Amino acid sequence: MSIIVKSDHQIDLMRKAGRLAAAARSLAGQMVEPGVSTQTINKEIFHFIRKSGGQPTFLGYGGFPASACISINDQVIHGIPGTRRLAEGDIVSIDVGATLNGYVGDCAATFPCGSCSEEAMRLIAVTRQSFFEGIKNARAGCRVSDISAAVQAHAEANGYSVVRDYVGHGVGAQMHEEPEVPNFGRPGHGPRLVKGMTIAVEPMINAGGWEIKVLPDGWTVLTADGSLSAHYENSILITDGEAEILTFADDI
Ligand code: MG
Repeated sequence: MSIIVKSDHQIDLMRKAGRLAAAARSLAGQMVEPGVSTQTINKEIFHFIRKSGGQPTFLGYGGFPASACISINDQVIHGIPGTRRLAEGDIVSIDVGATLNGYVGDCAATFPCGSCSEEAMRLIAVTRQSFFEGIKNARAGCRVSDISAAVQAHAEANGYSVVRDYVGHGVGAQMHEEPEVPNFGRPGHGPRLVKGMTIAVEPMINAGGWEIKVLPDGWTVLTADGSLSAHYENSILITDGEAEILTFADDI
């Protein structure tokens, strides 16, 4: 498989799918409060995407049983929604994909549940900012690892570590396309970015070490040392100038 550069028409469809995924993420974020179960949030996301004419991309993907991944505290990614109720002080990573007219929008963010510790809030803010540092290099002519290195530098300068085992990715008609977009590495490596490429940049940042483990459910990824983890993701379009965020939301 090679990198698929999108036509203007495909980009327009990517914008629409991106807007839907971003709206689903915003809706989910507004639901994060103490006492709400993760399956309640998942159900709302499912109905919202369906009534908007889309399909929840994650549902059934590789056998995943839900429309969103909801990962709490030391859970990094791929948490399965269920009966667990959110508690005051939790940090809640919600990852949503929406397929609309054959194209995918993929985005995520970590939300504080009620009042969180200063350290948890700092982790959320640094993770988000590491995405924006990364995409300063997401423009035609740069290489993929120019993004990776900038994400890593920002996270590590703030005393955090970057998950190695999971990475960002190209996105389009398929949720996972070429190229892989790691959140670590030396600059100047990997494929050269070309106008019309669409990729999902998604820092996963741990407060402790970068090592992870996977629960026996085969999905839920946790930090190996039990430290908190945060996630922030947008699907973006490579242009000659600044990247265009396809899953833009002004509140997240
Ligand atoms: Mg993704």
